[in-house]
Amino acid sequence: MARDLSHWLREGLGATPFCPGCGHGILLGAVCRALDLAGVERERLLVVSGIGCAAWIPSPHLRADTLHTLHGRALAFATGAKLYRPDRVTLVVSGDGDLASIGGNHLIHAARRDLDVTVVCANNSIYGMTGGQVAATTPRGARTATTPAGNPHRPFDLCRLVAAAGASYVARYAVVQPDRVARAVARGIATPGFAFVEVVSPCPTQYGRRNDEADPARALAALRERLIGREEAEALPAGERAGRIVVGEFVA
Ligand code: SF4
Repeated sequence: MARDLSHWLREGLGATPFCPGCGHGILLGAVCRALDLAGVERERLLVVSGIGCAAWIPSPHLRADTLHTLHGRALAFATGAKLYRPDRVTLVVSGDGDLASIGGNHLIHAARRDLDVTVVCANNSIYGMTGGQVAATTPRGARTATTPAGNPHRPFDLCRLVAAAGASYVARYAVVQPDRVARAVARGIATPGFAFVEVVSPCPTQYGRRNDEADPARALAALRERLIGREEAEALPAGERAGRIVVGEFVA
């Protein structure tokens, strides 16, 4: 049954700025559902984003106080806002290039300090809006604008990174699991301390067209096939987990 989420959307919005087939529109809906699930009052909500395609998920769409900041600095602004107004529910929504590549230092220290914010990281494995450059999350071997012969480096596992740094809640799901994403974000909001929800979201334009995943429907189907639950993955030999995306709650 469809749920009316329009109360979380600003009036007068037209189409989203996202490319056809982008996963970020699904994530916008899941964030709205999470706000309902968590019982967040609009007057108490602050949503902070950096720069990049995912930074457009909250701003201009959400009908709430939103802060659209500098590239890589969403968590720096969120830290200041939370210290000044600890009564606010502070949600950060941004991309992997913004939060984990340019802003990686802010990410690990916010987790280390167990700052009471919830971070939703839309991970599309690349810098999307700025031109398709390699990011700290790009899989080894993947082609990008700056690694046309394939990325020679291994990517960060963002959930392991923030868990090791001290986060209080850590989960990963994909946009093909919108209900699980919504429940994880709501749980993160309800958790005191630093909560991190990584959401795998396909980018057919910058990542897909360079890596044989340009067709949105096929990219979503391929993404679903790569998902494996945490407990099932733990039972597999390491070699058989290659290429799979492990989803679930890692710190709860
Ligand atoms: S460039 Fe990629 S991430 Fe950005 S809107 Fe287009 S499909 Fe989405």
